[in-house]
Amino acid sequence: MKRDPYPPEQQFETSLAWTSDEPIGLVIDRAEGSYIFLKDGSRVIDLISGIAVSSIGHRHPAVMAAIRRQLDRHLHVMVYGEFVQEEQAGFAADLTAVLPPELCSAYFTMTGTEANEGALKLAKKYTSRTRMVAFSNSYHGDTQGSLSVTGRDVYRKPFLPLLPNVEFLPFDDIAALEAINTDTACVITEPIQGEGGIIVPSARWHQRLRERCTETGALLIFDEIQTGFGRTGSLFAFEQFGVTPDILTLAKAMGGGMPLGAFVSSKEIMGAFRTDPPLSHVTTFGGHPVSCAAARATLSVIQNENLVERAVRIESQIRSHLVHPSIAEIRGKGAMLGMELRDAGLTARVTKRCLKGGVLLGWTLHSDSVVRLAPPLNIEEAVLDEAISVILAALQEN
Ligand code: PLP
Repeated sequence: MKRDPYPPEQQFETSLAWTSDEPIGLVIDRAEGSYIFLKDGSRVIDLISGIAVSSIGHRHPAVMAAIRRQLDRHLHVMVYGEFVQEEQAGFAADLTAVLPPELCSAYFTMTGTEANEGALKLAKKYTSRTRMVAFSNSYHGDTQGSLSVTGRDVYRKPFLPLLPNVEFLPFDDIAALEAINTDTACVITEPIQGEGGIIVPSARWHQRLRERCTETGALLIFDEIQTGFGRTGSLFAFEQFGVTPDILTLAKAMGGGMPLGAFVSSKEIMGAFRTDPPLSHVTTFGGHPVSCAAARATLSVIQNENLVERAVRIESQIRSHLVHPSIAEIRGKGAMLGMELRDAGLTARVTKRCLKGGVLLGWTLHSDSVVRLAPPLNIEEAVLDEAISVILAALQEN
């Protein structure tokens, strides 16, 4: 095969579509555990986990072994839902076993946004209603349905018209929940807003939201694409608020670094996709066998290595060691934290300095004064402390 003579940095510039004028552009050699190794021989501590994906670190040996085993058996054999594939059916069983009994039927997708698309369609089909309620500052993905329920005008406006009949309510506002009514097919929310700047609503709001959905027959969809799989200090964030959704959407950390999404509901609700017409929702690659094999291994690692508890300890370590007058607030739960700085300029300078010092930090999509802290849940304590020292030094430079 003829190899392109140009280095990947150049190919990145000439041939890859960019989504901003200033991509970070780190040139990756490999990644292992909490480290990303760059082509220039340096390494960075990964404090964002590929945006809450690499929760068990990069290339966990158990995941690598599961992937290799599956590679030796089969790759894609049929579109979703027709053949019995051991790892796909097995992961559906493993996943539903760690969820409340109502959430007993899993539909696999490739990505998070696709999981939300499926959930929105399912709610419309099951309820025969079309109105949808979502919240300001939310993020649910970039395909047309998910974007329709994403609560940030700046991202929605260029693509209007989107889905009609979507109403946005203020987040964490109990009185506003009265707008959910018997025309509402579904209410979609992140239990903790991620891209909105790591915003934790009250348990009381969650409970009233659940009550209001039950009163009106609207299906409650929790988008746990970012909060799921131990990130917030419980396997799923909804456990901490004492409420269960009708539909749960998942992705990111679930595949242990492989692409996999899911929406999970009851057998009764999920049954809406079987008839009128049959095959109401199909996908070619959803629940890819290699991704499902990786996901089974990932869930075992989270359980066997007690990573849910580890997320809680990460929060205390960060809150007690990362203290500086320039930090207005650290908010969030577990290993899903946002460090709010004075302004966007300082945030940009600090993240740049940290990268120079070997620590990769992130931003959130809707809030430019918040630094995202989302390390792998199995990051060693000493490595996290080293990263915190780099952040403190970067703040001190100001
Ligand atoms: N929902 C939430 C809460 C997210 O954070 C994201 C991605 O960041 C998505 C949905 C979209 O997921 P994906 O990028 O896999 O489509």
